[in-house]
Amino acid sequence: MMDGRTPRAVRLEDYRPALFLIDRVDLYVALYETHAEIQSRLEMRRNPDAPPSERLVLDGEGLEPVRFALDGRPLQAGDWRIESGDLIIDRVPEAFTLETVCRIRPQENTALEGLYRSGDMFCTQCEAEGFRRITWYLDRPDVLARFRVTVEAEQARYPILLSNGNRVEQGIRPGGRHYAVWEDPYPKPCYLFALVAGDLVCRRDRFVTRSGRAVDLEIYVEAHNAERTGFALESLKHAMRWDEERFGLEYDLDTYMIVAVDAFNMGAMENKGLNLFNSHYVLADAQTATDGDYANIESVVGHEYFHNWTGNRVTLRDWFQLSLKEGLTVFRDQEFTADRTSASVKRIQDVRLLRAQQFAEDAGPMAHPVRPRSYLEINNFYTLTVYEKGAELVRMVQTLVGREGFRKGLRLYIKRHDGKAATVEDFIAAMADANGIDLGPFMRWYDQAGTPEVRVEDDWDPASGTYRLHLSQRCPPTPGQPHKDPLVIPVVVGLLGPDGAELPMQGPAVRAAGATEATLVLDRETQTFVFEGLAQRPIPSLLRRFSAPVKLEYDYDEAALAHLLAHDTDGFNRWDAGQRLALRALLEGVRAVQQGGRPQVADALVQALGHVLAEAAADPAWTAEALQLPSELYLSEWVHPVDPAAIHTAREAVLGALARAHREALVGLYESMATPGPYRYEPSLAGRRRLRAVVLAWLVRAEPEYVARAEALYHGTDNMTDRMAALGAVQAVPGAARERLFAAFEARFRDQPLVLDKWFGLHATIPEPGTAERVRRLMDHPAFDLRNPNRVRALLGGYAHHNPVGFHREDGAGYRLVADAILQLDALNPQMAARLARAFLRWREYREPLRGHMRDSLERLAGAQLSKDTYEIVSRSLQAQG
Ligand SMILES: [Zn+2]
Repeated sequence: MMDGRTPRAVRLEDYRPALFLIDRVDLYVALYETHAEIQSRLEMRRNPDAPPSERLVLDGEGLEPVRFALDGRPLQAGDWRIESGDLIIDRVPEAFTLETVCRIRPQENTALEGLYRSGDMFCTQCEAEGFRRITWYLDRPDVLARFRVTVEAEQARYPILLSNGNRVEQGIRPGGRHYAVWEDPYPKPCYLFALVAGDLVCRRDRFVTRSGRAVDLEIYVEAHNAERTGFALESLKHAMRWDEERFGLEYDLDTYMIVAVDAFNMGAMENKGLNLFNSHYVLADAQTATDGDYANIESVVGHEYFHNWTGNRVTLRDWFQLSLKEGLTVFRDQEFTADRTSASVKRIQDVRLLRAQQFAEDAGPMAHPVRPRSYLEINNFYTLTVYEKGAELVRMVQTLVGREGFRKGLRLYIKRHDGKAATVEDFIAAMADANGIDLGPFMRWYDQAGTPEVRVEDDWDPASGTYRLHLSQRCPPTPGQPHKDPLVIPVVVGLLGPDGAELPMQGPAVRAAGATEATLVLDRETQTFVFEGLAQRPIPSLLRRFSAPVKLEYDYDEAALAHLLAHDTDGFNRWDAGQRLALRALLEGVRAVQQGGRPQVADALVQALGHVLAEAAADPAWTAEALQLPSELYLSEWVHPVDPAAIHTAREAVLGALARAHREALVGLYESMATPGPYRYEPSLAGRRRLRAVVLAWLVRAEPEYVARAEALYHGTDNMTDRMAALGAVQAVPGAARERLFAAFEARFRDQPLVLDKWFGLHATIPEPGTAERVRRLMDHPAFDLRNPNRVRALLGGYAHHNPVGFHREDGAGYRLVADAILQLDALNPQMAARLARAFLRWREYREPLRGHMRDSLERLAGAQLSKDTYEIVSRSLQAQG
């Protein structure tokens, strides 16, 4: 906690190699009902790559010292001291063995970092700096050591004892206790350490790698969840096979374990050989999980598995390189999902998240490069910029070097750095060397914050059949970075003829004449690309597959957008053309509402939508995406100052008008998209259900009768996907039906908090001012628990981050509610509190009186004793320039 001092920033430029190295770690962890005792034995030596030093400083936080020994001799008081938790020994030899014994209290650990209790089990979370809460250590990712871990606990309560690697021994101790010894043959940084003790059941399977290694796959959960792990296990096998096929990467241990944890700050954690997962991303059956949950499980299981090579075998030099493992691994899981489902739908979903939330991060006071330069608390930099924009950077590299070139580059990167800690430069150098190109200028993407804007103008010379695209780029200033250098931006383009056909290309802009797609590389402030031999003026399809994370501006007229929506062969750009049409209508609607009028919907949008609906059956999953209007969050990026109430009113009016205009087609789709037979998760069926859910949400806005149909769907179905479709549809329609359905859901799933999260989330995102009172009431619900991050995310996160019209209430009551919750939460779990505090980051951009109320809440927070995590967010918010 802050004690009145300003915390000191950690800077990338201050990186120095560790003064000492650790070769071997021997841990003995004894777990009791009141505390845990940790004996650690470290084989250490001076780092030959660092200046010589006799003074040893080991990171520690909140550890109670018991005793110390150096090379077998007990240390006396005076030989050692503790400063801000760290252990300091002034004189150590060149190579030595240090033994420490300490006590910790996992039962009281509500921050969920280090060793803690979740329900009846013990578990750990060490990334980023949790290991220092377990024992004194060089808690930094560039210190790699071999671990041998003994876990000891009462046998009856904790029959299962797990750690990383392979189990080499187990046995009984007196007093009803037992132990297990685990050895991990691969050197690793301590953030990948994990330990679990509990009464868990295991579901097993087996996977044989391409080279014939048999791997035991084990998923551990509490007994009542035993039947809900089958899908995660199948997903794991798919991921293992995919990484072999796509990148030639095989698993390297005899066992791969996943443990489901109820109280978990993150989604999942890739600890070597022993992944810990938020239960939300492991447990699934038709009764409790939606199609979306199934898809997320496959993606997260894949993500953590892929880390085995990108993160674990090759790890990070320092935390500034976080995107080296996260951006790369998110890219890998995106490609996995694209291959398993629909590439364009996956791309649309990822870009929607990027535009609505990462672009917002880039435009606010916490804007930071994909590789940040400084931080107060590294936990605050597990951001969309590091993860999602980081993945976009990796994707651009693949676009520049090609899919095969990327595979070669990744293999070279792993070959060079296996068993070592690497930097972003190492990754880019491997990609460049494997492909014989210079990627030096590309590095700017990692060091410059902000969303670049690419402006496109064109001209057409009918006499010579020449078409020119003039591209220019700029990037707005961000905190600490007033001026930006030009970036390397791959812009994938196609040209469409008036009949909708893709035109073969030729001319200086095109590498392979006759191709229907070209990658234009914009690497200066302005550049012109020339296409020749065209018979008619083409309509450009720009930035296909969203080939760079930029805002693209081109003055499309409505006819051109409708043409692209009807004919573009790129599924992403076809969707994007529809979004651009809708965005125009919505922004006009907002202006009309602000001037006291009613939004009118342009015929062009109504007609374009008619075409989409007419062809819905060809690709229901894509159509479901196309029917979703830009979200209120995304719209708030376009309205200055932000006016959440006007945005909501306009969007609802446009939605209602479109639904009424296409009532018949929607009714037809609702019937034809039904999926008869018992539920099973399968991407094509999920696409039909998704489309049906979107259609239902439109219909309840046009046809009161469909509120009753939603109720019928809820009660008549066998699965959670349809139930959530019904609840989601009635959520925005005040009235008795909504309250009845919400009550039915609560009664049915009362005893399953993980399922009730969906219900908390639905309440929290009701787009009405009265939701503040609802949320305050639900914080007293028996299933709500501030110490459980999933509950906090569902109720408070849902409200503060995903309910603009509820949160930004005219009288500031929404802000006061969330500020109260942040103060309570900060004392328990700083990471979660800091995430919630982000809801205030862009307060300056809102209209009055909202911004004044938000500032009041921020100042109240700033006046309190805050954790380093929350202090960093609150102080950056208040410092930001208006
Ligand atoms: Zn990750």
